[in-house]
Amino acid sequence: MLKLENISKYYYSSSSVTCALRKVNLEFKLGEFVAITGESGSGKTTLLNLISGLDSYEDGEMYINGNQTSFFDEYDWEKYRKEEIAFIFQHYNLIDSFTVLENVIVSYLIDGYSFKEAKEKSKEKLKLVGLEKDAGKKAVKLSGGQKQRLSIARALAKETNIIIADEPTGNLDVENGTAILSLLKELSKEKLVIVVTHNQAQIEPFVTRKIKLHDGEVVLDQKVEDPKEFTPKKYSSYRTNNFSSVFNFSILNVKSQPKKSLLMFMLVLLCVLTSFVFLGNFKMNLDENKTKTLETSLFLNLDDTRILVKKNNQFFITPETLLEAKIKNVVSVEPFDYITDINYYLLGDYKYIYEGGFVDTPDKMDTNFVDMSSIAFVDNSHFMRSSLSLSSDMLSYGRLPENPFEMVLYSNDASILNTVQTVYFKNGRLWGADTSYKYDVKIVGLLKERTEQVYFSEKICQIMDLSRQQFSIDIMYKENYRNMTKTFRNIVIDPKITDPQGISFDKELLSTLTEDRISFLKENNTTLHIKGERYKHTYNFDLSHANEVSSLPTLGVSLETFDYIYNHFKEKEQFAIFASDYAYVDEIISELKDKGFDTLSCFRASVTGYDNDKVINQYVNLLISVAAILFINFLIIVLGNSILK
Ligand code: ADP
Ligand code: MG
Repeated sequence: MLKLENISKYYYSSSSVTCALRKVNLEFKLGEFVAITGESGSGKTTLLNLISGLDSYEDGEMYINGNQTSFFDEYDWEKYRKEEIAFIFQHYNLIDSFTVLENVIVSYLIDGYSFKEAKEKSKEKLKLVGLEKDAGKKAVKLSGGQKQRLSIARALAKETNIIIADEPTGNLDVENGTAILSLLKELSKEKLVIVVTHNQAQIEPFVTRKIKLHDGEVVLDQKVEDPKEFTPKKYSSYRTNNFSSVFNFSILNVKSQPKKSLLMFMLVLLCVLTSFVFLGNFKMNLDENKTKTLETSLFLNLDDTRILVKKNNQFFITPETLLEAKIKNVVSVEPFDYITDINYYLLGDYKYIYEGGFVDTPDKMDTNFVDMSSIAFVDNSHFMRSSLSLSSDMLSYGRLPENPFEMVLYSNDASILNTVQTVYFKNGRLWGADTSYKYDVKIVGLLKERTEQVYFSEKICQIMDLSRQQFSIDIMYKENYRNMTKTFRNIVIDPKITDPQGISFDKELLSTLTEDRISFLKENNTTLHIKGERYKHTYNFDLSHANEVSSLPTLGVSLETFDYIYNHFKEKEQFAIFASDYAYVDEIISELKDKGFDTLSCFRASVTGYDNDKVINQYVNLLISVAAILFINFLIIVLGNSILK
């Protein structure tokens, strides 16, 4: 089986050469139980290492089953170690966190057995060494003798012809040591067992042969009894490690170390999540639009999640059809696109809603009409939204707007519910920077989710929607039959008008009217021209007051008249949708285009040249993301390692 011919082994160090083995000649057969003894430093371990293919030799030749080993390469040695050699160590080398059974199962799993097979075979081996009752115990709980039995069971699981044991009884008391030796003796009937030991007296009754080393030389090689003849067992040819054996092994590991595994899992989870965050950040910064200057000549509201959707000739789109189209990552649909470019500004007691946004809000501002132009919009970052995109389950108190002048907002103070607040609306691009519209609006509901957004009733949105258009009114004067055509910036609802047919003028126009004209107007009909169409009606001039909705030339009408006009005028050709994140805007736009909608990202349409500061910022952000991802990976290596230890 094994033959050593004139084997010499040297250890070289910088200052000296040690000769660990000197011209050793030995031959081993199956069925032998060999004891190798000798004082410390005599070369016992060196010899075992050579025999088991763990170390190389300098001189001589070793034969394995008749084959010269001086030509062996790494692969050959590995195959030899795997197929022929099983080890039993003085310090057992068990996996403490595994159970007794699992320690054996592992051996089979590594050889590619299925878990079920491995378990069956492992139980047999445990029975052989008398540990079947302790199969479920953790290896760390075993006594020394039991541990060595387990390591023998594990060696047996390797199914090799040669078992090598280096001081297997070194850590055991006499009784346990003797039991182990008789077990090895039993095994040697079908194998070659080579044992290194200090204790010659203890091993002598069991062995078939004893070898003594001294200073690297064999000084005694004595046969004690003839080994019994037998036909060597053919062990089933080894299977290679495959994925399932690695997988089974991992599962075993996870099961036996739940705490460690959980910790490791948490660490990996944490790292993956934070990596995602920084990867997202990285991706965001790759978008070159983010480094450009923004123009407000097209849109005032440059919310990068806002997408305009236009009516296409072939499609009549409503927000409902868009919702039906089920576009992913769209958070809300705003039927009144135009209002998403109109700022609102709330006066009064609840500047706390904005925490820092409206620091300069004058508490006791003169809200008299005359001073309208002096109202400064401190913060132009709040843009109108209609309450149509809300559902009542988004409210914690109150209800959604049902009447003309109502709104819902978020506040942590429920006492503002049902209070009336003055709200100013402004579109600096269309009406001029100093002009605004003013309405008293009731808070009818409080939102659950914290937001600075205020959502207005449909009627308010309609008024603002209509403010895109100019209107004119023809006033006929009796005296000279001349028309006086007055152009208005807007038609607004004047809350002070009670007569459905009543109309009111803004202050400026009212002041130009003489007494006789006023009395004339009170008696005559008036015709409204809206976008070329004539809305011929009898309107009653209510000249008792000037409407105070805006400093612009406005014609105040009743709610009924407004509805009548708006219904003829309204265009639902364009509305806005909001993406859940800027990252999805491209995706949403292309999906909408596929479905036949015309779309536009307001943000994209408003970016122009590069902004140097932003470019620098972008590079800094990219660097930070890369550094963070590297650091996280470094962390997983360092922390992971210490957990595994
Ligand atoms: P034993 O196991 O009988 O105690 P070893 O085989 O371990 O003896 O050692 C034999 C000799 O070889 C000793 O003199 C030892 O100092 C030397 N030796 C063993 N291993 C090494 C090594 N890795 N490097 C240098 N010298 C070694
Ligand atoms: Mg030794």
